[in-house]
Amino acid sequence: MRIVVVGAGLVGLASAHALAADGHEVTVIDREGPAAGASRGNAGWIAHTDIDLIASPKMLRQVPGFLLDPLGPLAIRPSYLPRLLPWLIRLVAASRPSRLKQSVEALVSLQMQALPAWDALSAELGLSRHIHRRGGLFAFSGRDAMARNRDHLDRQRALGIAVDEIAADEVRQMEPGLSDAIIGAAFYPDAAHVSDPRVLTQALFDAAIARGIAFRQGAVTAVEAGPPLTLRIEGTDPLAADAVVIAAGAWSKPLAACLGDAVPLDTERGYNVSFPGVTGVLSRPVAFPGFGFVATPLDTGLRVGGAVELGGLALPPNHERSRALHARARTFLRDLPAYETGTQWMGFRPSIPDSLPVIGRSSASANVVLAFGHGHYGLTQSAATGRLVADMLNGRSPAIDLAPFSAQRFARGL
Ligand SMILES: Cc1cc2nc3c(=O)[nH]c(=O)nc-3n(C[C@H](O)[C@H](O)[C@H](O)COP(=O)(O)OP(=O)(O)OC[C@H]3O[C@@H](n4cnc5c(N)ncnc54)[C@H](O)[C@@H]3O)c2cc1C
Repeated sequence: MRIVVVGAGLVGLASAHALAADGHEVTVIDREGPAAGASRGNAGWIAHTDIDLIASPKMLRQVPGFLLDPLGPLAIRPSYLPRLLPWLIRLVAASRPSRLKQSVEALVSLQMQALPAWDALSAELGLSRHIHRRGGLFAFSGRDAMARNRDHLDRQRALGIAVDEIAADEVRQMEPGLSDAIIGAAFYPDAAHVSDPRVLTQALFDAAIARGIAFRQGAVTAVEAGPPLTLRIEGTDPLAADAVVIAAGAWSKPLAACLGDAVPLDTERGYNVSFPGVTGVLSRPVAFPGFGFVATPLDTGLRVGGAVELGGLALPPNHERSRALHARARTFLRDLPAYETGTQWMGFRPSIPDSLPVIGRSSASANVVLAFGHGHYGLTQSAATGRLVADMLNGRSPAIDLAPFSAQRFARGL
């Protein structure tokens, strides 16, 4: 088939590779180029050991506190609140205990595919040097927070996720760059991180071109189910295809709507500051639960970031948020360079209230597959998503049950 993939982020490129491996003629189209969206500057964790959803009773209880602090780990831009309300209402609905259990099961089923899929894709393309397997730490500064987290660790262990609790001196042996404020940590030996998300995305793009995948620059304004299946592209002739994959990250909502699927996709904006060339502060990624940020030792330098800002796609960034993150990080990282020496970035996580991406056929055409909404785990899940997309378009039975990821689940009232 002639297949057009919309979006040259990690999800679109992983899908393009999986489809090309199946022998299809693949074109990737992006309005800018590779790594223009969230895939460019994320924190670089292959976080398949995480089972956290955005929606949870615990998170909802913390919201009032977060909202009192406009630069805290979670913030809502007031002018965006009216547009956000339907998404927030679905978020509350997704936090019901019965829904949460189903969502965690579905999330885990996808997370368990993530690292094997990355190993296979990176080996196939000769890119294994981009995947570092040194584990990851969740570091705590308070005994109460660490004790409260034990429940979470028990749930992870019950799902087969390896995690060890370690004391302060062992943490410091592993990561001398962490300050004395850290009193213990949970160590995930199987967590991995990548060389640099932008570098990796570019490498996937270069490998795509090398294997004969075509690239076109253009903004897709609509997809028509036809027949024939047609993509409308700004300022140029339409493009016909036998199949289409919509992988336009946080910008996918209007394209899905053309195909009859009203997906509650919004964005959790995230911020970070990176210090190019600064290596040796950490040897593995470290998260600081409760503080809303992580620090990752990328091959290109140290990156500190995270936070969630609900503010849509159009409002300008508020880089005071990355300054605030940096100020918090100074408490925990001994040799964190001065904020002014770093480069700031904001990215748009494509987020759905139940924290599950959409990986499924569109309502209007079985030959249009929607693959977006991976929220906090899009780097992690992209290689696995690519395989699932290819399975669908080849009529193979997928490795996991895709019903929880269907684009039509929202019509049933999530
Ligand atoms: C601060 C931050 C930290 C993160 N850390 C991690 C992490 O450590 N681990 C992890 O797994 N995930 C992380 N994420 C999430 C992850 O980055 C995203 O889930 C993932 O990059 C989404 O990939 P994507 O390919 O779906 O979208 P994107 O990378 O956003 O790509 C979408 C592409 O579509 C193109 N496009 C959009 N509209 C159109 C159109 N109409 N026509 C043509 N092209 C179009 C855009 O130009 C863009 O290139 C983080 C995100 C942020 C913001």
